[in-house]
Amino acid sequence: MTCASDGTISSTAQEDTPPPGAHRLSGLVFPGFANAHSHAFHRALRGRTHHGGGTFWTWRDTMYQLAGRLDPDGYYRLARLVYAEMVLAGFTGVGEFHYLHHDRDGTRYADPNAMGAALAQAAVDAGIRLTLLDACYLTGGIGTELAGVQRRFGDGDADGWLSRVDSWRSGTPSTVLGAALHSVRAVPVEAIGPVAGWAAARKAPLHVHLSEQPAENAACQEYYGRTPTELLDEHGALGEHTTAVHATHLTTGDIGLLGDRHATACFCPSTEADLADGIGPARELRDAGAPLALGTDQHAVIDPFTEARALEHGERLRTGQRGRFSPAELLAAATEAGHAALGRPGAGRLAVGAPADLVAVDTDTVRTAGCAPEQVILAANSADVHTVVVDGRVVAREGRHEAVGEVGRQLAGQIERLWRDSREGHS
Ligand SMILES: [Zn+2]
Repeated sequence: MTCASDGTISSTAQEDTPPPGAHRLSGLVFPGFANAHSHAFHRALRGRTHHGGGTFWTWRDTMYQLAGRLDPDGYYRLARLVYAEMVLAGFTGVGEFHYLHHDRDGTRYADPNAMGAALAQAAVDAGIRLTLLDACYLTGGIGTELAGVQRRFGDGDADGWLSRVDSWRSGTPSTVLGAALHSVRAVPVEAIGPVAGWAAARKAPLHVHLSEQPAENAACQEYYGRTPTELLDEHGALGEHTTAVHATHLTTGDIGLLGDRHATACFCPSTEADLADGIGPARELRDAGAPLALGTDQHAVIDPFTEARALEHGERLRTGQRGRFSPAELLAAATEAGHAALGRPGAGRLAVGAPADLVAVDTDTVRTAGCAPEQVILAANSADVHTVVVDGRVVAREGRHEAVGEVGRQLAGQIERLWRDSREGHS
């Protein structure tokens, strides 16, 4: 397999004599992985929320403390390192579900997209392909106003969201701009159509958190007399460019609707376990016609192998059956389907004309030694990745990011600084 100078794969044939100057990848080569659901700043919560029990909702209180402390510069510094961590793990594309738009009291920055622009620059500097999913977030719950830090998320109404997104000038042409509805909790029904229409007119990705928690379903039923899936469908938000994130607590009818519309379901198994969300009906969704993608969401771990394996493990625990997904299906969810859900159809394959985004994995580590190559996805973890190529260029090698350098120590410093500032701010 060789790469052309335009960053695409030019041949998948075995080359006995590589062209002069070629970098030869050893081990097992995967297409670059897609992280289809990310909130970059949640990385600063890792390993800091496991005291005192609680629920998704109490975890969210801690997340809000952190959300109150970021500004564009601080977000750039953190996100560049989080994206670099993703690259080291083998992710070559990320969908950033972005709702932290405004200043602490809800005031717009001079550039109303300053936070999104910081994320776009961070992705460029970390060498990862970014799809910025700009989230509409208007209410604190169904029928309740934004309060406290949530005011940073809000644009007032759908017109406010549309005018801000239409003024987006990132200066980073590689960024794909998509839309997001935060959830039926946070977007009133009259705003669903305009946001979905904006995405449909551009054939842009439209992502939405869907039925992550039973309380969200109950509130939706009580207020609208519909499930969240039914409500979204009624307002034109389900289609082949839609990605439903989590899709955990669904009715049989919801599964059929998502399948009929060929919406992608993005599972985030490590997050869904960490936040005690539950295990969604992944196999049923796939069989109904919904492609599956994977994301690391709140980044309790950043590892494509862990997510792929946990998707299958969830199925096994839920059903008492092994092999609910083949290794090839898990790989498709972690690569091709994820990139397609991020507006990059055709990426994530080892095929002529596809982007030369490649991940080389050692096959003789203590984890991968002795594995059948086609089953390595069920055994490896991100520490087995030795080289990552994006656009035909090596961006990470042997655990070191070529442009960012040593990522772990820098991350530790940034996260410590954020929490120190947070403590000072709340004292
Ligand atoms: Zn999320």
